[in-house]
Amino acid sequence: MSVSILKKPSVYDNVIRQFNKAADLMTLDQSVRKILASTTNEIMVNFPVKMDNGCIEIFTGYRVQHNNALGPFKGGLRYHPMVNLDEVRALATWMTWKSAIVNIPFGGAKGGIRLDPSKYSLSELERITRRFTFALAHNIGPEYDIPAPDVNTNPQIMAWILDTYLSMVPPKERQRCIHVVTGKPVESGGSLGRNKATGQGVVFCIEEWAKDNDFDLDSAKYIVQGFGNVGSWVARLMKSHGARLIAVEDVTGAIYKQDGLNPDALCEFVREYGGVVNFPGSEKVDHETFMSTEADIFIPAALENQITEETAPLLNVKLIAEGANGPIDTIGNEILQEREISVIPDILCNAGGVMVSYFEWLQNKRSESWELDEVDTKLQKKITNAYKRVKETTEDFNTDWRTAAYIVALSRLEVVYKERGIFP
Ligand code: GLU
Repeated sequence: MSVSILKKPSVYDNVIRQFNKAADLMTLDQSVRKILASTTNEIMVNFPVKMDNGCIEIFTGYRVQHNNALGPFKGGLRYHPMVNLDEVRALATWMTWKSAIVNIPFGGAKGGIRLDPSKYSLSELERITRRFTFALAHNIGPEYDIPAPDVNTNPQIMAWILDTYLSMVPPKERQRCIHVVTGKPVESGGSLGRNKATGQGVVFCIEEWAKDNDFDLDSAKYIVQGFGNVGSWVARLMKSHGARLIAVEDVTGAIYKQDGLNPDALCEFVREYGGVVNFPGSEKVDHETFMSTEADIFIPAALENQITEETAPLLNVKLIAEGANGPIDTIGNEILQEREISVIPDILCNAGGVMVSYFEWLQNKRSESWELDEVDTKLQKKITNAYKRVKETTEDFNTDWRTAAYIVALSRLEVVYKERGIFP
């Protein structure tokens, strides 16, 4: 194994450093601290799938369940060549904090398959998804652990998981199980507003920040990294404010346009050509130029560890709203604090997805379907309340937003552990 692989930054180390900082500041109970510093279950499965050419390939899938003190394990599944146990552990832990901050009765989990989905046909992806669901078997369940979409997964994949899971339960229980996954297509029991929910939550947080800082979003310039579900929805929703999207970066490269890129046309373009580069009227720029773009707001909505010792000094923005999970590493975070760039942390900023997953779960349990404006209103109320609670905590503890967000989550878990105690 090469040294560079061994030296790769551990995302989970970032989580533990963030956790320790908050736990020290709030003097978190020592026993609770020990419990929350480890995961509950770590499931790793290797499973065979027949490819279109008749050959068999073996895939590796993960599901890490961090904590379920506040409710069933909950969190997405991602399909990506970089998926590994360390990353999934970090993402599962962030899910526990996320649900606790926005006060929904879920714990935290995350999973995924190590693969590049662009290399497989739709029918191969269907067989991979179904076989993974079969391998997880009753490690997931509607009242136990509820997956959802994440990077490179979508409502169609959730529908295949649902269908496979239902085939594994006795016929008379099937109607009681459709909340085994959220983020389903609306026709298969999904919620209106779930698809845009993460992006919508990010925009609600940006609106709160703008109110707090007397900042006029109408004349704002912003840049987005990642143009998948989260990035593209943020861009489409920011349009209603008149804010200008001046640069976007994705796996194909980065583009820039001083007088603004049209988010709807860019979505169409990405759907057709698979990436943002060569979007008509835009100029192609390199990664460094993209990161240095002068703008008001940066929305990282791609993967972890993008804002680091190398890239944090380049940024030329007032606010970073973390659409992705973990886009800023520990050193990057310190540099941003020194440079007084505001950050709305991931576990608050992108919690809109899991919040509307909760609404979907409730609708399924009650056989209801809510109107879109009902979903949006509830989401706005919940995320705004969480935003205010985190803001108050920054003041109470004289600390940064990320640490304050952790303190809000950890306080909630600490109370529950103290009330319930530890068995036996
Ligand atoms: N994958 C999303 C997240 O990271 C949503 C999780 C969910 O809805 O369970 O927050």
